[in-house]
Amino acid sequence: MGRTIAIANQKGGVGKTTTAVNLGASLAADGRRVLLVDIDPQGNASSGVGVPMAESPVGVYEPLVGHGTLQDVIRPTAIETLFVAPASRDLAGAALELANIEGGHTRLQGILDPVRDQYDYLVIDCPPSLDMLTVNGLTAADAVLIPVQCEYYALEGLSKLLETIEMVRDALNARLEIEGIVFTMYDPRNNLSHQVVQEVRGHFVDKVFETMIPRNIRLSEAPSFGQPCILYDMASRGSQSYIQLARELESRRAA
Ligand code: ATP
Ligand code: MG
Repeated sequence: MGRTIAIANQKGGVGKTTTAVNLGASLAADGRRVLLVDIDPQGNASSGVGVPMAESPVGVYEPLVGHGTLQDVIRPTAIETLFVAPASRDLAGAALELANIEGGHTRLQGILDPVRDQYDYLVIDCPPSLDMLTVNGLTAADAVLIPVQCEYYALEGLSKLLETIEMVRDALNARLEIEGIVFTMYDPRNNLSHQVVQEVRGHFVDKVFETMIPRNIRLSEAPSFGQPCILYDMASRGSQSYIQLARELESRRAA
């Protein structure tokens, strides 16, 4: 049974999608079978692995609202063991629709269940909100991984996210764990980065990954080629940091 990890933070632009794509790709490059599940209507995770929304007549949306199965919409990527359940245009209306469907909170969980044993990891890229899509992501997950950008307001939204995680645990998914917090866009020359890291480490102690993702131009260039960074520039610091994060995640699991 694959481990399902939701990448979530309602704050926009903190590196959720970059983390979903590149952590997923790094795990896959290490031989794991990985399914990237794109539940963000922006579709950035899908295009980031070469499956842009414009080329996906169907995606996660269809099975989510009861049309067909997830298996029907899963597509291969350039990495042999990395697959994607892409976003399609209609996903934009899903949050509202799910609010009006019976059992709308648990739809994603239900459509993932039949495919979980085909993968070692299922990585869910959540949208920048705490809407029904994110709640579905958290409800379907074994654990949530929270990217935190090293900036002044980093901690502000975190308590709201933690409340939502508690709510989901109480009402929908008691097994939900916190996989960890990962710092993104870290700049060692920036004093503020140091302060934010120390503050968050103080709060969350061992929940914070040792590996920090540096600000690296290659990570921001790779998506426009529809490639995870390890295919675009394997030697870049961005690629190497996500490979390191994948190793740390796996060794923590083993410990
Ligand atoms: P959204 O909330 O809109 O879904 P997000 O949290 O998924 O955003 P990303 O899309 O991963 O965030 O990243 C936001 C922007 O920052 C993108 O342009 C991305 O390429 C860039 N970016 C992310 N991580 C890094 C990094 N470590 N170094 C440089 N650029 C980065
Ligand atoms: Mg995103």
